[in-house]
Formats: sequence, structure tokens, C-alpha cells
Amino acid sequence: MQTKPKPYRCNVCGWKGMAEPTPPLNDACCPQCGTWMLPETWMGTWGLALLLVSLTAAIVLFVAFFRLI
Ligand SMILES: [Zn+2]
Repeated sequence: MQTKPKPYRCNVCGWKGMAEPTPPLNDACCPQCGTWMLPETWMGTWGLALLLVSLTAAIVLFVAFFRLI
């Protein structure tokens, strides 16, 4: 089985670069701090952005709800 290096970005130390993915999740370890990373794909980028937006919206709604009571 052949694996092609994919672009990765470490959320802990900020390392950016190419690394060889490991099946089945295409994960890799950061060469600087050893943190588990997922490939920087279109879905991954937008998935995280969507998660942050929904989390912010949830917090805002939560605060607004308790201010009404
Ligand atoms: Zn790192």
C-alpha cells in the first residue's frame, strides 16, 4: 500500500508541513511535539470552522436565554 504525504498543521505548537498519513484515519504525529494530527483537508478546515461557529452561537443563545429569565 502506497501512502502519499499530506499537508498537516499542528494545533499545539503550530508546526506546518507534509507528513505521511497512517490509515485508516489518515492521522499523523507532529515531528515537533508528537501531537496527533488530522490532515488539513477542505472538509477538515470547514468542519472545524463550522464547529466553532455553532459553538459560539450556542454560547450566545445560552447566555441570552438566561438573561431573559
Ligand atoms: Zn506539534
